[in-house]
Amino acid sequence: MTTAAPRLYLDHNATAPLRPQARTAMLEALELTGNPSSVHGDGRRARGLVEAAREALAAACGVKARSVIFTSGATEANTLALSQAWQGADGPIYPERLLISAVEHPSVRSGGRFSPRQIRTIEVDADGRIRLDHLDQLLSEGGPALVSVMAANNETGVIQPLAEIGARVAASGGLFHVDAVQAAGRLPVAPKDWQAHAISLSAHKVGGAQGMGALVLASSAVAPSALLVGGGQEHHRRAGTENVAAIAGFGAVAREIADCHAESAELLRLRNLFEQGLHHICRSAVVFGDAALRLPNTSCFAVPGVPAELALIACDLKGASVSSGSACSSGKVGVSHVLAAMGVDETLARCAIRVSFGWTTTEADVARFLDLWGEVASRLNPAAVQHAA
Ligand code: PMP
Repeated sequence: MTTAAPRLYLDHNATAPLRPQARTAMLEALELTGNPSSVHGDGRRARGLVEAAREALAAACGVKARSVIFTSGATEANTLALSQAWQGADGPIYPERLLISAVEHPSVRSGGRFSPRQIRTIEVDADGRIRLDHLDQLLSEGGPALVSVMAANNETGVIQPLAEIGARVAASGGLFHVDAVQAAGRLPVAPKDWQAHAISLSAHKVGGAQGMGALVLASSAVAPSALLVGGGQEHHRRAGTENVAAIAGFGAVAREIADCHAESAELLRLRNLFEQGLHHICRSAVVFGDAALRLPNTSCFAVPGVPAELALIACDLKGASVSSGSACSSGKVGVSHVLAAMGVDETLARCAIRVSFGWTTTEADVARFLDLWGEVASRLNPAAVQHAA
């Protein structure tokens, strides 16, 4: 009897496999009974796990523990940050406008607690980087703004010039929020490096639990108004009994990825191998955002005449999980708003496939995917494939 090859998982930007350290920490936490707000010994033990994880995440982000607000994920962290009322170091701050880039995740594009008429979109260039001249223009057009820009794009991996953006927002007297979900574990992530007031993180993108995230403040003195109110958890910034096991797992991941240099270097080596192989198989392949700085693990590419919808199914049948655009928008037939904002032709955008590597990816995985891709592409568009002489 032959055993089927294990599935090939190349969709870490959608969700990453659970890291062993996170699994161990979560299983240990699940064995405990105790509400972290209870004063008895069982409660104090649960509280101990939550606070140890908070310390670990704060250390990884270069902030004080009190600056970490645990949430149910980055969608909630983003919505929490996009508030029209902030507590500032010298009193309340009421940003009148929200400026977001054209390539943000839907949870930022929805505008959080701002109304649509208060929202302006910052354009991006053909490589997906935000246009700083357009940001300058928008900042000069009205009153104090909250600016929200992602650190790196989930579909293309394109990295935004955050230090330049942060300096401009600071000069304008505005507030700056960064959705750092895809940068975590791949680039150093610290709000102070970018002059950001808050950054959003998601545990499941880095090998922790799904449904777990955090809003990390540069300083606990400057914070958005609470989204969930009720009990006094998270220093009155996020009511509700904490998800102790998921928080403990997030803490374990934070300890592991605090220094991500070695893992990132390996991811970049694998990604380069992949893109070289891709161009060798399909000369017409286009890699989106390849002239910009990109995350080391992400490759969003298209081969003309190889529609993503069909290629995705064919890859799946051969055992490989990849994505067309972001997981949040797959299942919908529309083209990616990210590629549209970059001015990519709609026909080509419909051929866009994203592969995203992570801590489980090996060189053998890359080789296996290239073989599989050659077969898929040659079936869907024989002319696109370079055959060995
Ligand atoms: N921002 C970005 C850039 C993302 O990629 C995602 C996940 N697709 C989110 C926010 C939302 O994260 P979560 O799944 O934790 O709500």
